[in-house]
Amino acid sequence: MSDIIQLLPDHVANQIAAGEVVQRPASVVKELLENAIDAQATHIKLIIKEAGKTLVQVIDNGTGMSVTDARLSFERHATSKIKAAEDLFQLKTKGFRGEALASIAAIAHVELKTKQESDEVGTELKMEGSEMVSQEACVTPTGTAISVKNLFYNIPARRNFLKSNAVELRHIIDEFQRVSMVHTDIKFDMYHNGSEVFGLPISNCRQRITHIFGGKTNEKLVPIQEETDLVTITGFVGKPEYAKRTRGEQFFFVNQRFIKSAYLNHAVNAAFDGLLKEKTHPSYFIYLEVDPKTIDINIHPTKTEIKFDDEHSLYAMLRATIKHSLGQFNVAPLLDFNRDSSMDTPYEYKGKAVKTPTIEVDRSFNPFKEESKAATPSTSTSSFSSAPSAKHTSFKKAPTADWENLYVGLEGADTKAVPEEKTFSTVQFESEEVTGALFDASEQAALAHHTTYQLKRKYIVTTIKSGMVIVHQHRAHQRVLYEEVLRNITMASAVSQQLLFPLKLTFSTQEVALLSSVKEQLENTGFIFDSVAGEEVSISGIPTVVTESEVSLLLEKLISDIEHEVPDHGFSQTDLLARSIASSVAVRTGIELATEQQQHIVNSLFACTEPTVTPDNKPTFITFTIDEIDKKF
Ligand code: ADP
Ligand code: MG
Repeated sequence: MSDIIQLLPDHVANQIAAGEVVQRPASVVKELLENAIDAQATHIKLIIKEAGKTLVQVIDNGTGMSVTDARLSFERHATSKIKAAEDLFQLKTKGFRGEALASIAAIAHVELKTKQESDEVGTELKMEGSEMVSQEACVTPTGTAISVKNLFYNIPARRNFLKSNAVELRHIIDEFQRVSMVHTDIKFDMYHNGSEVFGLPISNCRQRITHIFGGKTNEKLVPIQEETDLVTITGFVGKPEYAKRTRGEQFFFVNQRFIKSAYLNHAVNAAFDGLLKEKTHPSYFIYLEVDPKTIDINIHPTKTEIKFDDEHSLYAMLRATIKHSLGQFNVAPLLDFNRDSSMDTPYEYKGKAVKTPTIEVDRSFNPFKEESKAATPSTSTSSFSSAPSAKHTSFKKAPTADWENLYVGLEGADTKAVPEEKTFSTVQFESEEVTGALFDASEQAALAHHTTYQLKRKYIVTTIKSGMVIVHQHRAHQRVLYEEVLRNITMASAVSQQLLFPLKLTFSTQEVALLSSVKEQLENTGFIFDSVAGEEVSISGIPTVVTESEVSLLLEKLISDIEHEVPDHGFSQTDLLARSIASSVAVRTGIELATEQQQHIVNSLFACTEPTVTPDNKPTFITFTIDEIDKKF
């Protein structure tokens, strides 16, 4: 038999490799920003159009490239950053594989302009699908400007797979933040469709984080700091009372590289143990510096996972450091009064190697001997609140009644968050035309006028000719609202309730940017915005299905839903919006409903196009026929 193995032509190999490096516009952003940083730029500009689908441009004032290097930069495995395999173990640069530019050029139209300081003129190169289409000398400032246009123009399947602009923009902003958060000695600007999203001057770390996440961030941060032989830890954690319902602001950087680590995340959560409201997540911005020899960053194609040699010690130190800072800044109530200071956080790590703990045994200890001074929790509580012993100096203030306030506050916030009575008013009472064909006409009529009964503040029970229907009140209402909102968005037919005073809500800049990307659809649901800019959204009208007190939570949930839209769901943005609003506003389980409210839900449910399931496919009601009931007897 003849030989059948062939070497793939370069452009095919490049397209395949590109699949690994470039998943979406945000991947291009990441690679180009990293290259600019590796080129020692002090000012980097990111310019995006249409969430990167039509243009990603990065302009830097770094070293630039010679003519030959400019051409070579698009070759696969062409890199100036490592020379031999050993170099992989002491990486100081972001890039090292020499694949990014080759991959990007395989699937987009790329224009490069670059000039080195020592050169009079620069070089301009144009690439299309791995082919160089032109090379010219050009006038350009020192540094490099790369434009990547029409991403995936030659792979329509990939292009179609891209998400809505809001989602792709979110991914780009994520990458931009991850890079700009570590390089505070570089000035960064980002523009989307001509307007500035971020303008970050050179600053310290705290200021950089505040610039990125909004002016109010500063007061929420608690600094952390620890230096040992194994690791240097710096950064900030968010005060527990500002913990969010979504996992948004959680960042680990190792040697200036953003990484994801479930294990270290666990360490942070362990340090917050007992301080957080249920289902909330602390913010953190944690920077770890370790010897490059003790980590391996080559295990994951996008380099966001790394392997540490000594994960366990790292875990312990991180947890201890955060616990200490929370205590120092007086945000951690001291709950275990009977503590032994030798168990306290190991602050003297500095300069010391990690040691195996030794166990001291008190051989004279007799557990049966009555010890008059033995501290019981109650006695130590009282002695504690009056005068803290010197042993506990790591916590600056004694836990007076103050710590209880922490919880009182939380409870207060909780009840405020879901104003139960208010939810009531969201049920609309105007009678709607009942057109559903789910039950026959006589049954429909029976339903419309039939007695309803609420079971456990959760279900609405009613009868039809053939038996009994049990409706899940929250899910049913979700379906009703979903269809109503969807109809309003698509037909732009919504009615608004005017607010007496405009409602002003603050978010971070990028959350506002995200809201502004769905502004039009939101207006179709009945929202009236006076302005959506900077860190503030001003609202003067809201949909009739929403109450004023629900607006803030609704928008917060919407932002989080857009951010976390699961890639595999083929849902459009409109659908996402309707789902999010419906689930925020729908009457909750646990709410008592008046008879007419019960009937309204039942009637509008069966008037829906798809009454049987919620927008996320959970059953809204079940039926029992007389036959089924008879069988039970
Ligand atoms: P890597 O970053 O892994 O080396 P890339 O494909 O990203 O691979 O880049 C290839 C080479 O092109 C780099 O090693 C660098 O020498 C050069 N290069 C890329 N971008 C820039 C830039 N913005 N400024 C200067 N040189 C650059
Ligand atoms: Mg690179």
